[in-house]
Amino acid sequence: MNSGLKIFKSQKGTVAVLMAFAMVFLAGFTALVTDAGLIFMNQGRLENGLDSAVLAGAQELPANPQLALDMAQQYAELNGMQEGEADFAVSSDYCSISGSAHRRVGMLFARVLGVDQANVRATARAQISPIASVNGIAPFGVLDYEYNFGDVVVLKEGAGDNFYAGWFGALSLGGTGASVYLHNVRYGYGGQVKIGDVIQIEAGNMSGPTKKGIEYRINQCQHTPSCSICGYLDGCPRIIIIPIINIEEIGSGGHVVSVRVLGFGAFLVDQYVGNGNKNEIQGSFIRYVIPGTGSESAGDFGLYEAKLSE
Ligand SMILES: [Zn+2]
Repeated sequence: MNSGLKIFKSQKGTVAVLMAFAMVFLAGFTALVTDAGLIFMNQGRLENGLDSAVLAGAQELPANPQLALDMAQQYAELNGMQEGEADFAVSSDYCSISGSAHRRVGMLFARVLGVDQANVRATARAQISPIASVNGIAPFGVLDYEYNFGDVVVLKEGAGDNFYAGWFGALSLGGTGASVYLHNVRYGYGGQVKIGDVIQIEAGNMSGPTKKGIEYRINQCQHTPSCSICGYLDGCPRIIIIPIINIEEIGSGGHVVSVRVLGFGAFLVDQYVGNGNKNEIQGSFIRYVIPGTGSESAGDFGLYEAKLSE
């Protein structure tokens, strides 16, 4: 009987020791899982927030590097970063913005092991490249020229003042005729156009549908104050994307038949001037970032896409 009791006591002690070990192990494991979770969560938030911030900043490149930095900082804070957690820099050619973020994450359980905090870091970079293909262009073609920011450019000529041998600057996209053309002026052409594409011109002055379409766009700008070259809001209907072209084919009558796309530019439609068939559309040349497909080898006409590059 005695020896049986001893064995029982000894087993009881062993179980207690095992339980203690198990508890320590469990506590350690919980600490690891909980603190590792904290690190991963903060890492993910920092990375995503930084990605959004550099992309937001890149929307202002290359024209406004300081605004790009301000926007990136603003987006970093909107994404939960504290002041001083993120730093941004614009490259010397103003074509990319990079950011780095650092956060100290306080540990809950690892303190027992003497680890009070963990350092979490993230980096991101967004690059702009000239647009090589895009949807939604307006049916005007502007001859290749080195435009400066703010230049007022004639996008479609009026009667008596042709761009080139009887061509007023209107393009045929997805079909010919006034109603297709009007739709393209108002909303932009739904198909994709890329560098190298050859586009047939829209013969004739098209003054009626041009006026209607441009009036629609100007009236759709509900921004206060109204968008101008001094300040315009992203996505404003007055911002139109236009192919920069050269003449591809001249017909037997000496008239332009088609044009070739060299690249894409953005213009803020200012006004139409002149009456009847003499109306002329003017727009200010702007630098602008849009969704589209960019290519570093594409001709740079001031229209870009921004994407993460690391
Ligand atoms: Zn506007």
